[in-house]
Amino acid sequence: MVKKLLNEPVETLTGVGEKVKNDLNLMDIYTVGDLLEHFPYRYDILEIKPLSELIHDENVTIIGKVMYPPTVTYGRKSSRLQFMLQVDQVTVKAVMFNRTFAKKHLTKGTTVTLTGKWDAHRLQITVNNYQLGKPNTDVNIQAIYSVKGNVTSGRISNLLKQCIQEYADQIEELLPATYLKEYKIPTRSEAIKQIHRPENQLQLKHARRRFVYEELLLFQLKMALLKQKNQSINKGFKQVFPNNKVHQFIDHLPFTLTVAQEKALQEIFNDMRSPIQMNRLLQGDVGSGKTAVATICLYASVQANRQGALMVPTEILAEQHYESIREMMDSNIQIGLLTSSVKGKNRQKILEGIKNNEIQIVIGTHSLIQEEVVFHHLGTVIIDEQHRFGVEQRKMLREKGLHPDVLFMTATPIPRTLAITAFGDMDISIIDQMPKGRKQIETYWVKENMLNRVLEFIRKKVAAGEQAYIVSPLIEESEVFDYQNAIDLYHQLQDYYSKTIKIGLLHGKLPPDEKELIMKQFMKNEIHVLVATTVIEVGVNVPNASVMVIYDAERFGLSQLHQLRGRVGRGDKQSYCILIADPKGEVGKERMRIMTETTDGFKLAEEDLKLRGPGDFFGKKQSGLPEFKVADLIHDYRALEVARQDAQYIFQHNLLQKDAAFQKLSERLEEESGDQRFD
Ligand code: ADP
Ligand code: MG
Repeated sequence: MVKKLLNEPVETLTGVGEKVKNDLNLMDIYTVGDLLEHFPYRYDILEIKPLSELIHDENVTIIGKVMYPPTVTYGRKSSRLQFMLQVDQVTVKAVMFNRTFAKKHLTKGTTVTLTGKWDAHRLQITVNNYQLGKPNTDVNIQAIYSVKGNVTSGRISNLLKQCIQEYADQIEELLPATYLKEYKIPTRSEAIKQIHRPENQLQLKHARRRFVYEELLLFQLKMALLKQKNQSINKGFKQVFPNNKVHQFIDHLPFTLTVAQEKALQEIFNDMRSPIQMNRLLQGDVGSGKTAVATICLYASVQANRQGALMVPTEILAEQHYESIREMMDSNIQIGLLTSSVKGKNRQKILEGIKNNEIQIVIGTHSLIQEEVVFHHLGTVIIDEQHRFGVEQRKMLREKGLHPDVLFMTATPIPRTLAITAFGDMDISIIDQMPKGRKQIETYWVKENMLNRVLEFIRKKVAAGEQAYIVSPLIEESEVFDYQNAIDLYHQLQDYYSKTIKIGLLHGKLPPDEKELIMKQFMKNEIHVLVATTVIEVGVNVPNASVMVIYDAERFGLSQLHQLRGRVGRGDKQSYCILIADPKGEVGKERMRIMTETTDGFKLAEEDLKLRGPGDFFGKKQSGLPEFKVADLIHDYRALEVARQDAQYIFQHNLLQKDAAFQKLSERLEEESGDQRFD
């Protein structure tokens, strides 16, 4: 009975019509229960201060009484609602955009709490959030939700208010009561209320702590289940390849392997030769030579009469790896490229080639394992810079009846202990050494007023035959963020260099063939300066590029900056990374400082760990770490350890099956394990 309530579709909530429903569905919210578990991604914590203490242009919260009912005016694309508010005997003007519906609530005499940008000169607030009445306390914590479609965070917040009133009491506990007691964490029902509408920071902290633990425990239990399943399925095979052939291949490479590369290879080869399926993570800083190692493994797999596949997150990368691996590979080995832009006859030909073993190595995006690709005899799969934990990917392969050796690669250095816990059943190899002769990348942090000097520096480098990247956080102008955008920048630079330098523009919204063309031109040095968004972040390799300029660098996390910087310094030229940033906070400044001081990824990761506050996510997308809704593996490392121990205990004692206190947990686990949704 109870369960059914939470399973009701979201449209049962008052005010959720077709449009809102569709938007919510976009966010994977289908039921009331889903909405309750759509947690805020951050909070605005606002203190209510007297008007005289408010700072111009800052986000503030004020409380006042509506003096006259609002007036609404309509523009071409927006509506503007305006009213006067009395705050401590002072009249303040409030403006809201595209919130005509608020009019009916803001009747004369109503007390409201407004949050928004303060204009101290005009005594005006541009509202981005409003709440009827006074907040319970002087500290107002506003949950901010990630959104899709036209639904605003405020709307979600309001829906949740209704949802919590009507449903929160139906939420069942998942954890045994003994756990709640031992860890002093609130019940699930309480915690749901508090994570959405915390009254104070302490409440929020405990609610969050509860979900962190719950999430990590479920994760660790899943890992344990998976491990058990893997062990019980008879799978894996030996890949036998002649050592001398592989060594010949290595000897023919244009460089000598580093000791670290050799060690990693040895570990991988041992796995490949063993009858058990390889399940290994290869960690190494950007440029440490992971791709080179991967190429050798693919070669070895072919020598064992098996096929090899390399899966990368973007088409650009796939194409680039395809080119560079083809160059390194023996000419009698056929390599295929499979991405979503390989279409029609060509695609058919490649699919057939994979099926009948004419193609021995395939390089591509996710489509490699998700679509109806039939391998003749797949031996090794390498997954580079995976976005997500590979559990699903391995499951896909298993479901096709394949048990290839799998190697994951990531460029985000993660402390070894953390990696072992986070990756559960994986083996780990580390390349902790850079190839010889690499020059250190010189990193500088400048303010925007130095831009001309930066541009002249680029001019000099281009004249010397080198190339530059200029990265900007946004593609196009945004109403929300006041950051440089790639399209404007591209035009500005064209003006500035007036045709003396060829400039290219690369961003995620371009059609794939255009992206490819631009990337090719940049690789051939037909484009000298590439203006880009972070699409170039992962793995792009143009050794002739020696300058990386990052605009609004404070917008990026340390690991992302490090990844971007890793795009240069790939050849023998002295390379430079220039961070253009004017961070307001101490943390931002410290980040810039660290970037200028170290190029060692492991050290950077450690520094980042010390610096990070809540909400600063450590390049989750690129980290290769599993993604969580609430937990944050680096921050919540302790909880992860505890969860792991508990999961092991639960498993060893068969509590999921035997102990009634664990029944709900067991059910949830089953539900989630059956969930095959992909990102
Ligand atoms: P990663 O994939 O770890 O970012 P890559 O394998 O792409 O690194 O290597 C970066 C560059 O260094 C490539 O141009 C590659 O050819 C070169 N490289 C790889 N290993 C070595 C080595 N042992 N010595 C010299 N250069 C190397
Ligand atoms: Mg790489």
